[in-house]
Amino acid sequence: MALDAGGYPVTRSAGGVIRSAAGARDLAVLETRISGCRACPRLVAWREEVARVKRASFRDEEYWGRPVPGLGPADARIAVVGLAPAAHGGNRTGRVFTGDRSGDWIFAALWRAGLANQPTSTHLGDGLELTGVRVAAAVRCAPPDNAPTPQERDTCNPWLARELALLPDLRVAVVLGGFGWTALWPVLAAAGYRIPRPRPAFGHGVEVRLEGPRGPLTLLGSYHVSQQNTFTGRLTEPMLDAVLGRATALAGYPPLTP
Ligand code: SF4
Repeated sequence: MALDAGGYPVTRSAGGVIRSAAGARDLAVLETRISGCRACPRLVAWREEVARVKRASFRDEEYWGRPVPGLGPADARIAVVGLAPAAHGGNRTGRVFTGDRSGDWIFAALWRAGLANQPTSTHLGDGLELTGVRVAAAVRCAPPDNAPTPQERDTCNPWLARELALLPDLRVAVVLGGFGWTALWPVLAAAGYRIPRPRPAFGHGVEVRLEGPRGPLTLLGSYHVSQQNTFTGRLTEPMLDAVLGRATALAGYPPLTP
């Protein structure tokens, strides 16, 4: 596999994503392979343009400008699946949900739920550690207007499929927003889960239990932690806390002591 200037193995096509993801033996290898992916020309051009031009307030920073891998330990029983990195968030810092308002929301909520050691996530090396949860996105490259195309979603899906497969204890997937909800069905079908027909509609608090080769998996829907939702009050902290509380209970984690 050819390496790019950063030393990451390059993947250039949808077929390459399928092969490269399937051959990743552990999360570390998968993260490296994701970081070198160039399979979606529109998204590659956008993420790299944003990294070159930068936002004025970050002009002294070196942007990541690559696909953003997931974060969290391999023994996680809970996965949190978002939409895609933000242009000046994950695309800048190189860590999922890190460096933007959405990240402020989700990591503070994970901390309140006992799944993170600190409530903030600002940059690589800031000391953040997750316990029992893996956070990932359905699409790994920052898209223009936060809107990947269905083709880009489908091209990226094998990375997520492999990531979930590399979490042997996974019991719960918290899905942030309707895009991730839609993206997850083919991933789970390919992983051998029995998918209901018709597929359950997305909604906040919707809960769907699936049977699969590794036992049951429960999907929990939550409105996305986007500013559009949090600024307008469509998603509040208690609403998000309730979903994560349900996730930790379903995962069999002990309740937090006051
Ligand atoms: S969106 Fe996914 S498949 Fe497309 S270039 Fe980025 S990492 Fe690769």
